[in-house]
Amino acid sequence: MKLATYLADGTVRTGIVVGEKLVDTGLDGTMMDLIANWDELEPRLRDKAASEGGVPLSSIKLCAPVPRPGKIFAIGLNYADHIAESKMETPTRQVWFTKAQTSINGPFDPVQIAKGTATADYEVELVAVIGRGGKHISAERAHEHIFGYCVGNDVTERMWQHSGPQWSLGKSFDTHAPMGPWLTTSDEIADPHALDIHCWVNGELRQSSNTSHLVFNLWQQIEHLSVGMTLEPGDVIFTGTPGGVGAAMDPRRFLAPGDTVRCEIEQLGAIEGVMVAEG
Ligand code: ZN
Repeated sequence: MKLATYLADGTVRTGIVVGEKLVDTGLDGTMMDLIANWDELEPRLRDKAASEGGVPLSSIKLCAPVPRPGKIFAIGLNYADHIAESKMETPTRQVWFTKAQTSINGPFDPVQIAKGTATADYEVELVAVIGRGGKHISAERAHEHIFGYCVGNDVTERMWQHSGPQWSLGKSFDTHAPMGPWLTTSDEIADPHALDIHCWVNGELRQSSNTSHLVFNLWQQIEHLSVGMTLEPGDVIFTGTPGGVGAAMDPRRFLAPGDTVRCEIEQLGAIEGVMVAEG
């Protein structure tokens, strides 16, 4: 099933994407509530999805599928070609950072370049959303804890990222975590480690890879994260970006107001946002 968060008459609602239409779930809660109560709600929503009705997707405004996740984690240096272009060693341990809740952005919303900064960069990433929470989750059972997947752009302010030994500030600027266009539930994705992943800037292909090239796969990521920390329904994991980022080009090419960034992953859809100057 494809589940969206959208805006209807100023109210945030959840809906089911069926082809080119969106059918409202009829539920008053948020996507977080829906995920937390999935076992109970799923049969009802499957009936809804099969029913007539709905509105054209093109007529509604989609929001980030999980507008306010409890946690947002992202792994760095997790595709061989991106590690090489970053002139870094392949990590023997997973390198994690967090993105602030307030960095979440809708799938088609503008991305702000903050005042006084000039090194904004794109990173297309497979994003996983936790369904059933847990701690000490083994890699073998990690797939049981995934609710669904979507496309993310781990927008990064490079100068701030490298202004100190850890990256969270440079990864957490407002609007720097666009995600969507909706959640595709995990039962529809036979193998999350076999998806083509692409990013274009103004129509020019910049990143092109496949999630099979992840250094640490998603199951290993969940095992590692859940050693000391309880993962909860709705938590969001950015799984790393392939090569082709602007900071690694020669000369470097950062994003500027007016640039359009499109991120797409096979079976999950695409998100696209224009860069704008803050304020
Ligand atoms: Zn990233």
